Amino acid sequence: MKRTNVKELLKSTEYDKEVTVQGWVRTKRDSKQVVFIALNDGSIIHNIQAVAAIDAFPEELLKSITTGACVQVKGMLVKSPGQGQSVEIQAKEISIYGLADETFPLQKKGHTLEFLREIAHLRPRTNTIGAIMRIRHAMAYGIHKYFNDNGFYYLHAPVITGSDAEGAGEMFRVTTLDLNNPPKNEDGSINYNEDFFGKETNLTVSGQLEAETAAMALSKVYTFGPTFRAENSNTPRHLAEFWMIEPEMAFYDINDNMDVAEDMLKYLVKYALDNCLDDLTFLNNMYDKELLNRLNMVKDSTFKRITYTEGVDILIAANKKFEFKPEWGKDLQKEHENHLVDHFKCPVIITDYPRGIKAFYMKQNEDGKTVRAMDVLFPYVGEIIGGSQREENYDKLIARIREMGLPEKEMWWYLELRKFGTAPHSGFGLGLERLILFVTGMTNIRDVIPFPRTPKNAEF
Ligand code: ATP
Ligand code: MN
Repeated sequence: MKRTNVKELLKSTEYDKEVTVQGWVRTKRDSKQVVFIALNDGSIIHNIQAVAAIDAFPEELLKSITTGACVQVKGMLVKSPGQGQSVEIQAKEISIYGLADETFPLQKKGHTLEFLREIAHLRPRTNTIGAIMRIRHAMAYGIHKYFNDNGFYYLHAPVITGSDAEGAGEMFRVTTLDLNNPPKNEDGSINYNEDFFGKETNLTVSGQLEAETAAMALSKVYTFGPTFRAENSNTPRHLAEFWMIEPEMAFYDINDNMDVAEDMLKYLVKYALDNCLDDLTFLNNMYDKELLNRLNMVKDSTFKRITYTEGVDILIAANKKFEFKPEWGKDLQKEHENHLVDHFKCPVIITDYPRGIKAFYMKQNEDGKTVRAMDVLFPYVGEIIGGSQREENYDKLIARIREMGLPEKEMWWYLELRKFGTAPHSGFGLGLERLILFVTGMTNIRDVIPFPRTPKNAEF
């Protein structure tokens, strides 16, 4: 059957042509002679109006069509005499796929985002969540396009990992053992030899270590997949399951790494402005009047690059009452990151963090105190990217692993990358949902992923 989606219809100027459209009823309004039905099919935020003459349809049929129902309308596409739309459909034939009774929860407009989270199965049918889902799609596509156009290969990193050495966060165990009656060793500990993989396995917290293996052959690769962290942090910026993009580049140093991060983020913001303006305008008007300004500002900005040490100096000089006193050697808190972004009024990249607060694999600087880490801090969301140049020197890496008491044996394959044809290399992790928070202006990460996974919450 020939059908046209709402997006195409609203653009069309081929009047007095018969069209078929399918979608869900957003609102129905009666007047004396006609019924106005606003239909949406998700192809665009706007609805198309179907106009049904009362005497052309059985009364029962028109009465049964209410908000939430799913229908097909055949009719003439005409120039709309009314305000608010350029075209409308004069209905000739209406068929019903599914009715929705008065218990359909999205009757009126203006539900809170909190309420919508409780009906995650229906919330895609709202303007807000529909807009966010289209933007999320565009960003995912833009990410693949950016990397493809810049010579990167897409690497599928494993979701189940046997290495617990990544150290990026608490992990979710993967097991087929009977939790009520697990096999035990003589000393009473659980015998994982009998588990599915014959060893302890977990859901991945990062695909970086695997990406490094591929970068040592294909030069430029990226992962883009689900990532799991069992941190019990119930914040508006953390999910237990989120999507991470992790490029890894051979022959790139920390400065090249920053260039990629900055170029990609600006490309993506521009991509959103170029491709999602209807949805962004809706979110701007509905939730955050600064959204479009902020996106345009970042698109045209040059990110400020400072060292951690310079950052701490700025924080101390600010003479401000922070909850956590800024002090060299301590991790930057959210309030510190916010202050630095406000200070420069643009995205900030912070490099050369103290080695004590960063991961074992980061390249050690000559000073013996800092490592070549880089965090990208954004206005509004804070940390959006964490990355580094990697330690490519075998002796330095193994010394660090021993110093930190990490399981050296299990890291044999990661270490071998430094034994056979090692090369300087760098990479970073971008949290997709943090990017979507920034681009949509939403304030809670639970609203930018279709089915959020957070502590005590996996209903849908
Ligand atoms: P944070 O300090 O914000 O908790 P992190 O330093 O633990 O993040 P990294 O290990 O550097 O995070 O991960 C790289 C990126 O992945 C982060 O910059 C962020 O964009 C994203 N990210 C990390 N943890 C989460 C999470 N729990 N939920 C959503 N995104 C996350
Ligand atoms: Mn980080």
